[in-house]
Amino acid sequence: MSKFVQPNLNLNPKINDEIRKTTCYMCACRCGINVHMQSGKVKYIEGNKDHPVNQGVLCAKGSAGIMQIYSPARLRAPMKRIGPRGSGAFEEITWEEALDTAVGWLKPVREDDPKKLAFFTGRDQSQSFTSWWAQAYGTPNYAAHGGFCSVNMAAAGIYTMGGAFWEFGQPDWDRTKLFMIFGVAEDHDSNPIKIGLGKLKKRGAKIIGVNPVRTGYNAIADDWIGITPGTDGLFILSLVHTLFKAGKIDLEYLVRYTNAPYLIDSDPKSKTYGLFLRDESGEPLILDRKTRKVTAWNSKGARPDLAGRYRKGGVSHLSVFQIMAERYLSEDYSPEIVSKKVGISAKRIKSIASELARVAFEEEIVIEQAWTDFRGEKHDKMIGRPVSFHAMRGISAHSNGFQTCRSLHLLQIILGSVEVPGGFRFKPPYPKHSSSHPKPHCKVTAGEPLDGPHLGYIQGPEDLCIDDDGKPIRIDKAYSWENPMSAHGLMHMVISNAYSGDPYPIDVMFMYMANMSWNSSMNTSGVMEMLTAKDDNDEYKIPKLIYSDAYSSEMVAYADLILPDTTYMERHDCISLLDRPICEAEAAADSIRWPVIEPDREVRGFQSVLLDLGARLKLPGFVTDSGDPKYKDYADYIVNHERRPGVGPLAGFRGKSGDLDGRGEPNPNQIQAYIDNGGFWQKHIPESAQFYKPWNIEYQDWAVEIGLFDKASPFLFDLYIEPMQKFILAARGIGKRQPPEYLRKQIIDSMDPLPIWYQPFEEQVTDCEEFPVHALTQRPMAMYHSWGSQNAWLRQIHGYNPMYLPKKIWEDNNFKKGDWALVTSRNGSIKVPVARMDALNENTIWTWNAIGKRRGAWALSENATESNKGFLLNHIIHELLPPRKDGMRWSNSDPITGQAAWFDLKVKVEKISKEEHVAPLVQSQTSPVKPGLIDVKYGEDFID
Ligand code: SF4
Repeated sequence: MSKFVQPNLNLNPKINDEIRKTTCYMCACRCGINVHMQSGKVKYIEGNKDHPVNQGVLCAKGSAGIMQIYSPARLRAPMKRIGPRGSGAFEEITWEEALDTAVGWLKPVREDDPKKLAFFTGRDQSQSFTSWWAQAYGTPNYAAHGGFCSVNMAAAGIYTMGGAFWEFGQPDWDRTKLFMIFGVAEDHDSNPIKIGLGKLKKRGAKIIGVNPVRTGYNAIADDWIGITPGTDGLFILSLVHTLFKAGKIDLEYLVRYTNAPYLIDSDPKSKTYGLFLRDESGEPLILDRKTRKVTAWNSKGARPDLAGRYRKGGVSHLSVFQIMAERYLSEDYSPEIVSKKVGISAKRIKSIASELARVAFEEEIVIEQAWTDFRGEKHDKMIGRPVSFHAMRGISAHSNGFQTCRSLHLLQIILGSVEVPGGFRFKPPYPKHSSSHPKPHCKVTAGEPLDGPHLGYIQGPEDLCIDDDGKPIRIDKAYSWENPMSAHGLMHMVISNAYSGDPYPIDVMFMYMANMSWNSSMNTSGVMEMLTAKDDNDEYKIPKLIYSDAYSSEMVAYADLILPDTTYMERHDCISLLDRPICEAEAAADSIRWPVIEPDREVRGFQSVLLDLGARLKLPGFVTDSGDPKYKDYADYIVNHERRPGVGPLAGFRGKSGDLDGRGEPNPNQIQAYIDNGGFWQKHIPESAQFYKPWNIEYQDWAVEIGLFDKASPFLFDLYIEPMQKFILAARGIGKRQPPEYLRKQIIDSMDPLPIWYQPFEEQVTDCEEFPVHALTQRPMAMYHSWGSQNAWLRQIHGYNPMYLPKKIWEDNNFKKGDWALVTSRNGSIKVPVARMDALNENTIWTWNAIGKRRGAWALSENATESNKGFLLNHIIHELLPPRKDGMRWSNSDPITGQAAWFDLKVKVEKISKEEHVAPLVQSQTSPVKPGLIDVKYGEDFID
């Protein structure tokens, strides 16, 4: 009988010889990661349990970061174009030649007319630095990708309550009892939301998902509302109507913390119609309930009257609240009236409103914690309304998105659920009133810096970036009458405007990490033509194009000069409080990336390259008095740059000995201190300052102490945005600056200072009988834009993308598994594989975004499924609306902020015979890097 021999297994093999803690960059969440190293190579990645963002959680993208750093698509050296633009034919050159070429192009432009440089960056996380470079250069033409992403969300939040969702704030995950999530794709704020949802599920809190598509977060919602795209604002205002009608409004909250009691000129014939009544020092006035006299909003002991009425100089003034009540009690917003449009029954709308009211007012939370408000009034407890909300691009990427996002904030505020226990909480440095942000600057002087920061929050027509004739000064027409509050610029219009020379031609286009010739543009085929278009002299209409990317994306082929970036593990970065920080509601925080491996190619971190270019161009701030480079590289800048005395890119470990938080002299060992601390720094907010941040004087003082502000800046929420009314007055012919005739009506119709809903523009100008179906894209949990679908591990999750059709369209057209469809909009057609999905609004089709790749790009082989069965919806979305009667074409954007209206698209769907590959199948590019190993055909069984 043989004796069983226990095998001698090593159950605890040594898996690393070192762990290096840094920050993930496989999406924009910025989780902490532990990178396990063996013999100097990355072996695997796990989540950092101590990190405030992810607390150890790691998503599929995060762990697949290892394939990003070994990707065959990585660029290897600087390159100059040697074939026609778009062909992908390049020659490798030295860094010296590359930088000489760039300076040779940039220097004369700066000396002659700096606005002829358009410098736009994509999803980078160093915007406080890149904007500083552009400001020193002197061009007004700078922005990042917010204009085609979610500026409606950010701007609506800042203008209404000093902050929005995601990087600005979060639900009180530990206390909220009812959570509503609107239009959120799974890749944004990914791990923090997953952790938060886990907490809600554990406590049995209810989750309501509002989204035409039921995937990801919506799939685990207790209640899913498959809303009709573009009608979220109408649905929300119907909830507001129902709450007003039932009297379920937190009046005390409105009195104390919002401008609801402000008195407004209510005489339509008055020149100050719709503006606040103010005292001599300019403070808005309220009517005091006790004295029945008008007094400044912030006077000590004042008891504002929500129902205030006041006559002065023959003009009637009404409180904001009275105007709100009149507007939202209108039957136009009743559930019965809106039901058909939004695709939700009146009964369901009423039941959601009543659930919100019940939880907010009957399940009140009380924390026995004293605090003091900015009026000096002491409170012995904190009262919470445990209802919270989160929203993202789904509700904002519409031409009515700004007002829709405003409507959601209105709903939050009338329930009294912002900055209270159980509600929505801001993350430092937010909240910050719109007037505390910079205003945009656009004064161009040859050879000199711009007169101030490019982007900001305008407060009226006087702040627009227009010339004396009213024409836009910026190439993207941001801050013009076409879209006055374009707080993030309009990156999606830059190529189109530069191509048409409207408002003027440019000389150099300089872009970073923005795949504009593919998934980051509307009308992709059109953009490729614009980038290669030539004038009568056979010169490119956009004469010079510099581009920086780490990978051979589709955009690389369109550049004349390539400055290759590193991967995220090969460089220094800072996730700064000056930029898009990683704070939590209870703590300020920031973090770094550092080179856990050294590049094995001739590549350099883009930020270090910009510093080098800045020094070669002798830009102010980039050179010492003797003209030498001021910073050796980006790490040197991170440590030694001071934006204000004592305040630099990193807030932690400041001061010579590294023991100061927020403010302090530069610490030469700061980066090592971050590395020793796991890659991040965190500073907790004191207990008494944790809630009511805009009004809590202890929070305000704490924020000043750590350098978030220079003085306490309490403010009230702007339910009514007075600057918007100033635009309406201008459009009605009042004031020095007035819009052109053709824009007056648009401004009056869209820029209402109280949230409204209007039909998306695409639906107004499209024959909805011919194109009856809504078409959307959303990003999958496992991919972040185009970065993921070239990653060898992530390609196995989404190797191609079908168009998902709802049951009704599927059955009406007799579709079967493996079928294909022709999807047509007013801008053309695509041929795509289809799949059935029943958890979908019955009048909507959708697909994953940015899976489809152009052949030859990203070092994929010619027969990669991403290029043959993956596709972009972008081809059939136009960046312009159809010509109007006067022949003019307007941007397909929100008229207030200029946000690209991706999700307004209307299409028709027709069954076609099975195709070999998607159409359009864009001609192959020559790859500047060699493809990797063989491609595996993923997911074929799904379509055959
Ligand atoms: S959520 Fe984003 S940042 Fe976090 S691990 Fe995943 S990819 Fe990385």
